[in-house]
Amino acid sequence: MMLWESFKPNRLSPVSTGKRWLSNFSLVLLGAVVARLMVPTGLAAVAIYAQNNQIGLWSHLSVSLWLSVPISVLLFDCLIYWQHRLFHRVPMFWRIHRVHHADPHLDASTGLRFHPIEIALSLAVKMAAVLLLGVPVLAILIFEVLLNASSIFNHSNIKLPIKLDKLLRMFIVTQAMHRIHHSQVVRETDSNFGFNLSIWDKLFGSYIDEAKDSDAGIKLGLKEYSSPQTNTSLMALLLMPFRKKPN
Ligand SMILES: [Zn+2]
Ligand SMILES: [Zn+2]
Repeated sequence: MMLWESFKPNRLSPVSTGKRWLSNFSLVLLGAVVARLMVPTGLAAVAIYAQNNQIGLWSHLSVSLWLSVPISVLLFDCLIYWQHRLFHRVPMFWRIHRVHHADPHLDASTGLRFHPIEIALSLAVKMAAVLLLGVPVLAILIFEVLLNASSIFNHSNIKLPIKLDKLLRMFIVTQAMHRIHHSQVVRETDSNFGFNLSIWDKLFGSYIDEAKDSDAGIKLGLKEYSSPQTNTSLMALLLMPFRKKPN
């Protein structure tokens, strides 16, 4: 995706790409460290533990993997949709999630730009779901790869041909669909919460087909975080959840 967006970018970045990438990828690294410290063995090992100890719903049902794996992946995708909605709805969580939204530009690196606290909370939610459901380890592996891949895909700075976008959007979240979620218009930010499948927004009434100002006119980022000191500096991003105002 990074190669694609460097050869055929959809928009030009308003801030230095080097500085943005340094901050965004530093957050990726810090998030990975936090996740390792929390669950050193990774989510897959938690799923194996649940399986071996007959913990969770699936272990009490005799269902074939052909059924339990796709259903678990679907359930996890739905769970992440609702977690994302919650991060927008609850002010305390929004303080953390706005680190992702303060990015004044969108590219593949934005798809992985989350505050380490958001990574930790999301991991805790996923771990609870793994233990409650006793999700097959294969489902966890597929879901984690899918979630990261689709996040990198739908944040990338590219524009698909309109017909292809419409076709893909029937099933998955495209760049144009997720760009609406990064609009500075609040009604648009509070829509299109899906990360992977587009069905959840349509099912739960949060889908917006097109932004008020059309795709090219969408102002990305957050109005109150308009300078590189507030939306790109790593220290500002790390402190963002603890500050009421940008500075
Ligand atoms: Zn969001
Ligand atoms: Zn996003």
